[in-house]
Amino acid sequence: MNTDHASPSAVRYPPLGTVARPILRGGTLLLVEDSRLSCESIRLMLRGLGGRLRRAETLQTARRHLALYTPDAVLVDLGLPDGSGLDLIAQIDRKTPRVPLVLAISGQPELEAQALNAGADRFLAKPFASVQAFRRQLAPIFPRFAQEGCADHAPPHDAGALRDDLYQALDLLQGNRPPDQRAYALQFVTTLARNLSDTGLLHAVQQVGRDGDVASLAIALRNRLRALPLV
Ligand code: CA
Repeated sequence: MNTDHASPSAVRYPPLGTVARPILRGGTLLLVEDSRLSCESIRLMLRGLGGRLRRAETLQTARRHLALYTPDAVLVDLGLPDGSGLDLIAQIDRKTPRVPLVLAISGQPELEAQALNAGADRFLAKPFASVQAFRRQLAPIFPRFAQEGCADHAPPHDAGALRDDLYQALDLLQGNRPPDQRAYALQFVTTLARNLSDTGLLHAVQQVGRDGDVASLAIALRNRLRALPLV
C-alpha cells in the first residue's frame, strides 16, 4: 500500500486535459483481465487506439510482462485467479519508472476506495455503460480519444468469449476446490452475471453463498450455454 495516499480521493494523476506532455505516439496498454468477455468488450472500445494492447490473464503473467516492459497504461481487474489485482497495483505504484496511468477495473464497485488507496489513478466499474466515458479515462495517454466522437453504447457481447467464460465458470465450480478458489469462482460468475444483466444467474450465485450448493448454479450456467447460438 502506498502511504502517499492519505485518502481514497487523493488521486495523483493530473485531471483530464491538464497533462503537460501527452504521449503523442500510439502508446502501449497492458490489460490484466481474466474474463474473455470483458477483454473483448475492452478491445472493441479501444478500437482505433493506434497503439498496442497486451493481455495478461493472471498476476503471474502480468508481473512477467512488467519485469520487461513499462507500458503507457495498465488496466488491472481486481479479481484474478491467482490473487487480487490490488497487490499488483500496489507493486506497480512502487516501481520506478512508474506506469504513467494505472486504472483499476472491477465488477465490485465497493472496491473503489481500496483500489485508489493501493495506488490506482482511476477506478472503472464493470459493466462499462458508456464507451465515451471509458475512452475519456485513457485520453491523457491516447490523445486521439479526446478528439474523436464515437457511438456511446456498450459494444455487443462476443458469443465466443461468453461461451469461454461460461465453460470457465463451470470448470471452476466442479470438484472439491479450496475455499479461496471457490470464492474466486463465485466472484467470477457474479461479475459475469452483472455484465450480462442476468438476474437469474445472479440469484443462482447468491443462493450458493447462502447454502453452498452449486447444483442450481451449474444448471443456470448450462442453460445460458444452451441459449447461445451455435457458431
Ligand atoms: Ca475477474
